[in-house]
Amino acid sequence: MSVSEVQSSFRMKRKPALSPTEYVEGILSGNRTVLSRAITLVESHRAEHQAIAEEVVGACLKHSGKSIRIGITGVPGVGKSTFIEAFGLSLIEAGRRVAVLAIDPTSEKSKGSILGDKTRMEKLSTHEHAFIRPSPSSGSLGGIAPKTREAILLCEAAGYNAIIVETVGVGQSEIAVHSMTDFFLLLMLAGAGDELQGIKRGIMEMADLIAINKADGANLDKAKLAQQEFQQALHLFPPNPSGWRPKTLTCSAITGNGILEIREVIFQFEKTMSENGWISRKREMQASYWLRQTVEYELLSRFYASEQVKVKFNEVERAVRNGELSPFRAAKVLLNAFHQVS
Ligand code: GDP
Repeated sequence: MSVSEVQSSFRMKRKPALSPTEYVEGILSGNRTVLSRAITLVESHRAEHQAIAEEVVGACLKHSGKSIRIGITGVPGVGKSTFIEAFGLSLIEAGRRVAVLAIDPTSEKSKGSILGDKTRMEKLSTHEHAFIRPSPSSGSLGGIAPKTREAILLCEAAGYNAIIVETVGVGQSEIAVHSMTDFFLLLMLAGAGDELQGIKRGIMEMADLIAINKADGANLDKAKLAQQEFQQALHLFPPNPSGWRPKTLTCSAITGNGILEIREVIFQFEKTMSENGWISRKREMQASYWLRQTVEYELLSRFYASEQVKVKFNEVERAVRNGELSPFRAAKVLLNAFHQVS
């Protein structure tokens, strides 16, 4: 037996394989271990795992959807984990069951910087009504986000009715998170005159609420000032198709000031946007967006993995670089090679 065979038989002994039905039953009964294992299955690149995952997600789909999905973003150090700890506990106080899924596109390791630190969300992570889980972060974002989306569905089927998807405010991942959540919360810091520069305008435009964190101690006045500036800046953005007027608040994740107000704004959003049908319309649009995204991602992956493409690629690319072949013609050559085998 090779080392990997020994390891895998050891793993098998430790965790007997579950059937799709056992996964589904475990999830629906709210078993966190089974939920966690099902998410691991969803994240796996192995074809046999993917096949079971598809069946499990498919069966859970009709039990999903009954939650508010909240995206939270902000630059590293803004206080996201401290905030989620306080905010998550306040959601639980209001009777919610909270799942936190964290995407960290900057980390190669799945349990990397976002949740690697054991002190992160200490109380929340041990609370019986909370489930915290890092999302896989290896590979390209196109590959990560659909997994997070499936993880949301599984958490909902397991009875979590407030789903928080956290991401670091460093680029594309916010767009992915925005396209899988109902409410988008941007955490910001008060800076000396640079309030509007730290984060891209496009991200600000997506926000339903901007909260200036660390509004405590000597920073309180600066935070209030920053809030006013953001409020004015938001007026310049085009109106949101939902009719929701984005808000600004200040908070301190450490003292807890402002956390309840944020919760109330989100509950108010949930109520009005469910009643007027916006949340379900938005989810329909998101589902078709994910269908397209997944098709594009799958096609690209298959294209680059295809032997016929690999054989020709370098040669064709060289010809393009030398100016012997136009990029358009070259793309056709490669696509034709791909189509011949697919
Ligand atoms: P993340 O990188 O966005 O997840 O930020 P963390 O939650 O790890 O917080 C970064 C640092 O800011 C830590 O030292 C926190 O203790 C501190 N911090 C977070 N929230 C607040 C707050 O509301 N007030 C103050 N004064 N410090 C905070």
